Amino acid sequence: MGIEVKVIDLGERKAKFILSGVTPAFANALRRCMINEIPRLAIDEVHFYENTSILFDEQIALRLALIPLKADPTGYVMEDECTCEDGCALCQTTATISAEGPKMVYSSDLIMGDENISVADDRIPIVDLKEGQKLLLNAIIRLGTGEMHAKWQSAVVCGYKNVPHVSITDCNDCARCVSICPRDVFRLVDGRVMIGDDINCSYCKLCLDVCELQGIVIEEEPDAFLFTLETDGGMSASMTIAYAIHLLKERAIRLKSALENLAH
Ligand code: SF4
Ligand code: SF4
Repeated sequence: MGIEVKVIDLGERKAKFILSGVTPAFANALRRCMINEIPRLAIDEVHFYENTSILFDEQIALRLALIPLKADPTGYVMEDECTCEDGCALCQTTATISAEGPKMVYSSDLIMGDENISVADDRIPIVDLKEGQKLLLNAIIRLGTGEMHAKWQSAVVCGYKNVPHVSITDCNDCARCVSICPRDVFRLVDGRVMIGDDINCSYCKLCLDVCELQGIVIEEEPDAFLFTLETDGGMSASMTIAYAIHLLKERAIRLKSALENLAH
């Protein structure tokens, strides 16, 4: 059987899909790719010209770094792959904040040097400036990956499990499994216990403990995986999946070519 993808749920930031026809190693490679290897832009360095707020420079810099930025990462190159020495328009851009209290400074107060970059959420609070307090800074935005630092991580939640199958082989309709199952896998219909959405099964096995007839069977598909993904909004869920697959494909092509060179 070839590789198949069945989308269960797809939103801007969340996705649930079944990937089948692959090995556990491939599923894990895709997961790691989505978390660690997709290039993203994030604030990486901050120069403070004035900060009379209650927060230290370091605290504000940390908050700025964790603000998800929306941008096409292909517009920039990694700093260590750039031909320049001190940073140029290819490997970095800037954002500034100039604010005076009384005012709550939000992520939307970041003025981007590149109009193609925006914050994923406008209302992320940075610091509450009181009367007369000022904040003036210049931030440098660079490309990075989740492997380098969590601020560049695309998928903030990404996990998978083997697709579960629950069946009943012997039953007296006592309904104990209906009450104990935390995922509502069992349903009571006209006094009969039926299997509902068994894809929600978490393999907790509580139902096995309460079934006196030992009539419940829980199996897992060895080559089908239910993925749950959530991004920070900097990149859409569908783009994160597509980018990770693209990276895996590129890597496979490089490996194939290296092996072919070895063989010759
Ligand atoms: S606990 Fe077992 S016997 Fe009772 S309803 Fe569930 S499957 Fe049937
Ligand atoms: S293993 Fe847990 S989640 Fe799965 S059907 Fe049984 S009780 Fe429900």
